[in-house]
Amino acid sequence: MSATSDPTPAPPVPADVNALAEKVWPPDIERLTDGSVSLGGVPVADLQHRFGTPLYVLDENAVRDRAREVREAFDAAAERHGTRARVYYAGKAFLCTETVRWVTAEGLNVDVATGGELAVALAAGAPADRLGLHGNNKSEVELTRAVTAGVGTVVLDSLIEIERLAAIAAGHGTVQDVSVRVNSGVHAETHDFLATAHEDQKFGFTLEAAESAVARIRESPSLNFVGLHCHIGSQIFGAAGFAESASRVIALHARLLAGGDVPTVNLGGGFGIAYTEADTPTPIDELADEIVAAVARECDAHGIPVPALSFEPGRAIVGRAGVTLYEVGTVKPVTVGDDLERLYVSVDGGMSDNARPALYGAAYSARIVSRRSDAGPALARVVGKHCEAGDIVVDAEWLPSDVSPGDLLAVPATGAYCFSLSSNYNYIPRPPVVAVGDGAARVIVRGETIDDLLARDAGVPATTEGNA
Ligand SMILES: *Cc1c(COP(=O)(O)O)cnc(C)c1O
Repeated sequence: MSATSDPTPAPPVPADVNALAEKVWPPDIERLTDGSVSLGGVPVADLQHRFGTPLYVLDENAVRDRAREVREAFDAAAERHGTRARVYYAGKAFLCTETVRWVTAEGLNVDVATGGELAVALAAGAPADRLGLHGNNKSEVELTRAVTAGVGTVVLDSLIEIERLAAIAAGHGTVQDVSVRVNSGVHAETHDFLATAHEDQKFGFTLEAAESAVARIRESPSLNFVGLHCHIGSQIFGAAGFAESASRVIALHARLLAGGDVPTVNLGGGFGIAYTEADTPTPIDELADEIVAAVARECDAHGIPVPALSFEPGRAIVGRAGVTLYEVGTVKPVTVGDDLERLYVSVDGGMSDNARPALYGAAYSARIVSRRSDAGPALARVVGKHCEAGDIVVDAEWLPSDVSPGDLLAVPATGAYCFSLSSNYNYIPRPPVVAVGDGAARVIVRGETIDDLLARDAGVPATTEGNA
């Protein structure tokens, strides 16, 4: 979809263009008496003054509270259905040493998908046995690092990888716990799921192929099979897709019990969040209960005990805790129809700090946070400063018609997959990440400088200290 030629319909005109809709902003947000906004108790003007824009702001309490809430939701659901649950934070959503420390302190484990992500989790001091390693093409170096570090579970994705890891673990004289990623044929996104015989995608084994993969693992003295793993998609609002997938995975799990113990099933992540007011994700406690109930029903039907369950939320943990601050640089009215004018509001970032609109047509919302406005609503498109017509931050939003250069604009729900998908397109330095909470702010990932951007270019003349 090209967002420029096929615009998403404008959201309903808001009653108040200053309103901060509860479901998309971090809980600790407030409009102060001067009309500006504070995040985590820190006025946005202070954040702008100290750290500049664009700026990723992450509310530490929001991440921690949500991590705990999600863990407790799955714990409670598991307990109601006679089993245990373990929650892995899918680190790729927003990975830095602080986020790893926050979620592990709240009792979560952490999933990583590459050697780089593994290095961050280990640098954070996360106990290796609480890490899971994913990926459809883990290298020998990555697998060796996982084995020597003592990573809890490696999720195996192909026959080649089974042999590769078996040899590495044997070479190190260890037995590595592994699970097997299956492709259940269910793919889910937001309101819909598609269930087919198998999915035409790169991850995992088909349900048929998984059985012989598990047999191969069981023959291997250096590997210990702990269960099946599947992940059906992302930004999913309801339980139906998970239930359908679980019924297929549990059927295979039941067959595998004939060949030995299978202590766990991992049902992946993908739990959705509200990016705009129109989004209606199921509350996590309801979702957890529906999914675990579906698993328990299937196990009952097969006459088997409910295995220990694992889940891997990423977006659901960090998404709503993040806000990106931008400064408005230019405003340009463009007539797009007989009666329709659209304000193009250009900000000082764009697709380099939030690739999701350009990548998937993702919808976001925005508010002016440096002041309150009494002006009426104007249909706006918030765009970045990159050399791409598709460099859109918010495709359609009602902003006060007096939006002007110098206004601070905030985009909520940017905690997941914005920092992690950021780039240096057009040689824009990546913004810093600032953690806020209890009235304090601190840098947890520093921003890039122009020197950072030049540092890898072998043709840049070396500077002497005097003129650096
Ligand atoms: C990306 C991913 C997740 C997390 O997805 P969210 O939508 O952020 O919850 C979990 N498990 C696997 C295997 C993934 O690839």
